[in-house]
Amino acid sequence: MTANNNTQTALPNPTAKKVLLASPRGYCAGVDRAVIAVEKALDHYGAPVYVRKEIVHNKHVVTSLEKRGAIFVDEVDVVPEGSVLVFSAHGVSPAVVAAAQARNLNTIDATCPLVTKVHREVQRFANEDYDILLIGHEGHEEVEGTAGEAPDHVQLIDGAESIATAKIRDPKKVVWLSQTTLSVDETMQTVLKLREKYPTLQNPPSDDICYATQNRQVAIKKVGASSDLVIVVGSANSSNTVRLVEVALEAGAKAAYRVDFASEIQDAWFADVSTVGVSSGASVPEELVDEVLEYLANRGYGDVETVLTAEEDVQFSLPKELRKELKAAGEDTSNKQKRN
Ligand code: SF4
Repeated sequence: MTANNNTQTALPNPTAKKVLLASPRGYCAGVDRAVIAVEKALDHYGAPVYVRKEIVHNKHVVTSLEKRGAIFVDEVDVVPEGSVLVFSAHGVSPAVVAAAQARNLNTIDATCPLVTKVHREVQRFANEDYDILLIGHEGHEEVEGTAGEAPDHVQLIDGAESIATAKIRDPKKVVWLSQTTLSVDETMQTVLKLREKYPTLQNPPSDDICYATQNRQVAIKKVGASSDLVIVVGSANSSNTVRLVEVALEAGAKAAYRVDFASEIQDAWFADVSTVGVSSGASVPEELVDEVLEYLANRGYGDVETVLTAEEDVQFSLPKELRKELKAAGEDTSNKQKRN
């Protein structure tokens, strides 16, 4: 009997080029709300609308809003008295709120409700005279805002040295809290080290690392384990984006890179690469991911398989000051916005 090539079953080709697309990825509910808040404020009040710090940590989003008339400032003292000022999704300390009030600014607080939740935890534990060990990255805006709720009670834990130098007054009154966008695994390792030093260390009342950060890490873990190369779309100052690159490498990806735009991808990354994993940080619009997929398709990686690890349906309503203003003017108060 002779073999008939026409009837042979095709075997999967292990070297075929393909893309594993992580899901969930990209915009979270807090980012979506903050960006829409600035867009609606621009529509309602007209330009300029001032925004303290980057509304979310993404170059493309910031540049797009600047083109529409948003002005990003580092501190409130440069904002003209009486102007409209939006606080970013990362949150602000009470000192910043007071500075804005002193300048008679019309403020809209776009702090993500999940960041506000951590602020409330700090207030509560500080009122009960706890020492609060806040795990996070020094200099990150969210950490500055959260610690600013009770600077006398909060100590930042960012690396081994800060664990060694932390000082606790009463071992029965010590709790750890965290920035919302950290690596889940790395944070738990830090907690283990803290607990070796302070066995009575209390846990937060609920997870501080937010659902979006956790979901994107779970998805990239699965993608990273089967990828030769992982590309994460997002900006360098986006904490959750940088964590996705680290998590992909820990999961087994042979290489992982962060890019703001498809134009930053380098051909040299593709030597011996069959499977490319793709994801994006929580502040990244999907159009930037589409551009990366187009780049990959043009290089033979047109076969895209979605790796879905969770469905998300979280939505936050617009900041209450803005809703009140829009309602009084008979305008749409939903957190939906047409984007060109
Ligand atoms: S990453 Fe999490 S905490 Fe940050 S804005 Fe999004 S939902 Fe809120």
